[in-house]
Amino acid sequence: MFDVTPPSTEQLRCSPSARPEREALARHPVLIALPQALQDAAHAQGRLIHQATGQRRTTGGSLGFLIEGALAVYDERNLACIERLGTGATFGWETALTTRTSEQELLALLDTSWLAIPAALPAQVMGISWVERMFGRHALDRLRRIQSLSACQVVHAVSARTATLIQQLATSSATEEIRTTQAALADALGVQRTSVNAAIKDLEAAGAVRVRRGSLRITCASTLACFACGCGCG
Ligand SMILES: [Zn+2]
Repeated sequence: MFDVTPPSTEQLRCSPSARPEREALARHPVLIALPQALQDAAHAQGRLIHQATGQRRTTGGSLGFLIEGALAVYDERNLACIERLGTGATFGWETALTTRTSEQELLALLDTSWLAIPAALPAQVMGISWVERMFGRHALDRLRRIQSLSACQVVHAVSARTATLIQQLATSSATEEIRTTQAALADALGVQRTSVNAAIKDLEAAGAVRVRRGSLRITCASTLACFACGCGCG
């Protein structure tokens, strides 16, 4: 019901020559915690990438820092969404550890901006041992998130998973209106659009959300929480 025309390719903007604005970089909690030398290199060599809701692109073998929005990350064969990332997330550190180019597809669930830096940059600036420690520190958390999402997709009903995804998007949305589409939600959940449509109609009938063209808004967070499975939320 709230789907809109898919974004044109012009809406996928990427300006390799444009330097990312410092204000954008200053909004990322992981980026600002990195050693200053690496922050400076990221600013000099990074590209700020904008993906409109519903737009897909690959990581391009880059290391990514999600400035705002939300992304669904797919496995290497594009069979299913294996990870969902919100504002402040970082991804692609495995590409910084290996010479093998690793491409993953990213679907924007909201209008999204992320900083792409060359995967080799951290090792060039900080040394490979530093990258290994950084990767190791966060690997267990990431593994748990992926395991949790996999189990959720197998066990929980589409209606509960839809409610949980809406909760997650709300935390990453820049406005109270969550500007997303049913097609993007269905792709992220790995189900038919009609299933998401039915789940959202139930949520709207219960007063948990209000649907508009191209967006939805949470009208009662506690009612939405009653529907949600809560897996890996937040
Ligand atoms: Zn679940």
